[in-house]
Amino acid sequence: QQAQIGLIGLGTMGSALALNIAEKGFPIAVYNRTTQVTRDFHQEAGDLAGNVVPTESLEEFVNAIATPRAIILMVPAGTPVDQQIEALEPLLSPEDLVIDAGNADFHDTNRRANTGYKMQFLGMGVSGGEEGARHGPSIMGGGRQADWDRVSDVLNAIAAKAEDGTPCATRMGEEGAGHFVKAVHNGIEYADMQMIAEIYGVMRDGMGLSAAQIGDTFATWNEGPLQSYLVEISGKVAKATDPHGGKPMLDVILDKAGQKGTGRWTAIEAQHLAAPIPVIEAAVMARNVSARLEERRVMQDRFGAAPQGFDIDSTVLEKAMIAGKILCYAQGFTMISAASEKFGWSLPLPEIARVWRAGCIIRSSMLNDMAEALTEDAERNLILAPFFANLIEENIPALRQAVAEGIAKGHPMPALASGLNWFDMMRTARGTANMIQGQRDFFGMHGFERLDGIADAHGPWGA
Ligand code: NDP
Repeated sequence: QQAQIGLIGLGTMGSALALNIAEKGFPIAVYNRTTQVTRDFHQEAGDLAGNVVPTESLEEFVNAIATPRAIILMVPAGTPVDQQIEALEPLLSPEDLVIDAGNADFHDTNRRANTGYKMQFLGMGVSGGEEGARHGPSIMGGGRQADWDRVSDVLNAIAAKAEDGTPCATRMGEEGAGHFVKAVHNGIEYADMQMIAEIYGVMRDGMGLSAAQIGDTFATWNEGPLQSYLVEISGKVAKATDPHGGKPMLDVILDKAGQKGTGRWTAIEAQHLAAPIPVIEAAVMARNVSARLEERRVMQDRFGAAPQGFDIDSTVLEKAMIAGKILCYAQGFTMISAASEKFGWSLPLPEIARVWRAGCIIRSSMLNDMAEALTEDAERNLILAPFFANLIEENIPALRQAVAEGIAKGHPMPALASGLNWFDMMRTARGTANMIQGQRDFFGMHGFERLDGIADAHGPWGA
């Protein structure tokens, strides 16, 4: 049979996505660099094997797909994608479409979109890990509308569905727009995870709670405004027991976080865009600090461990996290607006909030309210939307109390604290950059604008 779509790269994500596509009734041709992987995949596809066309060469693969072809690449980002495209290009026709569904750097997607391949090209961010890919990911596309429309029936069928039934698959704009939105998603993912880890830290080191007690608290929070996949799984992680020895799992896991660099990309890009995203930056920094385990051990030997008793009720911590989360997302959406302007993408902010509501790692109930607030006015900072302004007013005192107690008692809370610092800077109409301008003019004659409107003024120090 002719397959309706093809997929290359039967690793963790590719095989899950291929099964999802086959399950939704679309015959799919698959190809993998290592042939045995393709054979095993087909054999293990069970009931779905009938919808899977295994192929052992690129020629066989291309010929197995109905024209005009649509081919999903699920190989590691970077050179492998370029190599795969290069190998495919001579075999394809101009109407065929290649979709890079890996975690590409959006600059690479911009480059590929403008390379002038013989065939068409889409970039597509896929979130939700293996489970999402298998049963419903969140999909963020970038490229030409006509190309997106050609595959949108498949993408809508395989995507996660929000509570109202809307598929979480959206074309975000031209070129690398989809991979850019995925990158911001990943940055926010880092930040959400870090804020949870900070709260876990004060509960463990300051409040003397056991992992199981902390797990119960997160489980309770997951019933309220913080309802989210990450709070839910953090509760489960905290409550799990090591099958070898019976200790809490958290007490046997080394405190050294891995990263594939996607949070770092977001932080770097934010600098290029001059978009302040301190909560995400703090989360990336914290992962880097976590990696320096030996250095931390030496420093603790020299200076002693900081944390002392943390005297705050956990309901205050819950409120602090609500405030921290809103501040973090407000920053993330501001960064998206900045990119939209720089790249001329017209990124649809409400749609982005909607596409993150299900299927992806940062899915949460709060994203429903964010989607509504951004629908009312996408230009306005999220924290100025009446719903969120009220929540901020209500919860900032708790964030301040928690961060103050953390700083006083030596509990690092970089993400939560930097969210608060951003908020305090943003609400200060008369800031302190007049001092910076004075300094710049003093040492470099850079000039400054005066409050009375005179531009390019200089101070008396040069005289
Ligand atoms: P895996 O390592 O599980 O699989 C990689 C696949 O790519 C394998 O099929 C491998 O084939 C193939 N491959 C590797 N190098 C090349 C090459 N040079 N040329 C052709 N094929 C190659 O990766 P994942 O499935 O985890 O990730 C795939 C993409 O999806 C990445 O961009 C990743 O960042 C992204 N992603 C991953 C998520 C996850 O949770 N894992 C979540 C979202 C996105 P072979 O069998 O021959 O080695």
